[in-house]
Amino acid sequence: MNPTVESTLTKVNEFLSQSSLKAFVGGEWVAATDGTTLTTRDPGTGAPLAEVPAMGAQDVDRAVRAATHAFRSSGWAEMPPNERGALLHRLADEVEKHKAILARIEASDAGKVLAQAEGDIQNFVDTMRYFIEISLHVQRRTPLAVKGHEASTVRIPWGPCGFIVPWNFPFLLVGWNIAPALAAGNTVVIKPAEDTPLSTLYLGQLAQKAGLPSGVINVVTGYGATAGAALASHPGLKRMSFTGSPEVGRLVAEASARNLTPVKLELGGKGAAVIFDDVDLDATAAKLVGAITFHTGQVCCDATRWLVQRSIYDRFVNNCVDRMKSVQVGYQLDPATQMGPVVSAKQRDRVLRYLERGQAEGAELLLAGGAASVPGRDGFYVKPALLAGGLDNVAAREEIFGPVAYLTPFDSEAQAISLANDTDYGLANSVWSADLDRARRVAERMVAGNSWINAHNVFAHGVPYAGINKSGMGGGVLSFETYLDYTRGLSVVRPL
Ligand code: NAD
Repeated sequence: MNPTVESTLTKVNEFLSQSSLKAFVGGEWVAATDGTTLTTRDPGTGAPLAEVPAMGAQDVDRAVRAATHAFRSSGWAEMPPNERGALLHRLADEVEKHKAILARIEASDAGKVLAQAEGDIQNFVDTMRYFIEISLHVQRRTPLAVKGHEASTVRIPWGPCGFIVPWNFPFLLVGWNIAPALAAGNTVVIKPAEDTPLSTLYLGQLAQKAGLPSGVINVVTGYGATAGAALASHPGLKRMSFTGSPEVGRLVAEASARNLTPVKLELGGKGAAVIFDDVDLDATAAKLVGAITFHTGQVCCDATRWLVQRSIYDRFVNNCVDRMKSVQVGYQLDPATQMGPVVSAKQRDRVLRYLERGQAEGAELLLAGGAASVPGRDGFYVKPALLAGGLDNVAAREEIFGPVAYLTPFDSEAQAISLANDTDYGLANSVWSADLDRARRVAERMVAGNSWINAHNVFAHGVPYAGINKSGMGGGVLSFETYLDYTRGLSVVRPL
């Protein structure tokens, strides 16, 4: 075996072979107060990977207190941005240095194809560096030209901030969430998903190595209904950010509202791809099949409704069916694998159930999908599937979160826009056409946070990414405005 791979595997095994991993609170590694743990599994084999603390309200309270103490007393909040930035660059360096280890941990825990996991870890690094750069250039004090007053506004970090994240992009989403908060001088308490806590715990080790003051980053592990609910309702938090399902997002928003804590919600989606008849059919089919099978369709902003102009509908369907049939389903660490497992047995059942319900409501099955088996691996595998029919079908209205697309033909531009906007969600859509004027026109009529042209799943640091309606609220992530969200404004005035 290549010595670099061997050393990575040894380090991953060392990390996983601890009898029970600990959570990271106030710079210390702690068990749950009542000693309970939960098991996280490898979705590709179904086998246990590690035990982590199943924390409760008392543990979460301890973490919020640690974050509060660090905010008030560690010097983090008052540190000049370049000094804080230097520490955060050190953290980004540590993450980059440990990319191979983190990627393997992430791939094993989340069922992610290894190359995709590597991309996620690098994305964390890039996100951190992007927000550090902003923090160095934002004007902290802005003088105001107001008659009769000497006045200015000052930007100040809020304090301890809470973050609850899902299992589909565990490490990447931790980066999107905490990087602006930390760069602005806040402290954080992160609750990773119970299915994928490992990479976030590893981040705790790297935060120590990088020399971040104790309590600036805290990680509490546990179930949503206990640890998650305790964090969302904690009155000590100054900001809350939740990424996950709309159902839980509502609960988090309600709990935050009771404490008058500002909240960001990044929720699910049911995005459309609008495909006009002047596209390069082959290239468009390849990109959309690539998107719906990327991370086994467990992507909030995926194009799950494909609206295709009638004149090319049959050819487009045939092209996609052929491509999807040849997608190599397999174990996520096998280099030949194109599509790994879904995250859990529960998620596999959800995908299979939607296929049944969609057909029961009259959808046509263009490609059967269903459970897949991978020799020697008792994991949670499904095959890609295609359904077709009217958009009033449950499989066209609700988020499936698997490699399943729903097709429907359209005749006119106006009809395409109306079909695309006929959804409770509002996260991301794409428009595909060789006519860029038309593509832009349609893109601007979408009722959603994001419209992409001749591409899907496009993320660039500096372009705001947010959802509206059932897909979220609170300003979104990845932009300059996100950084500002993690500062509060204070007006300082002296009458002249
Ligand atoms: P989920 O809502 O079930 O869980 C998300 C997180 O919330 C987990 O950490 C979970 O432990 C926690 N949680 C569960 N119940 C809770 C409660 N009562 N109080 C507080 N926290 C609780 O979502 P999931 O199944 O992990 O993730 C899939 C969902 O996330 C999909 O809807 C997907 O579209 C969405 N998502 C959105 C984005 C985005 O940026 N808009 C990104 C990724 C995923």
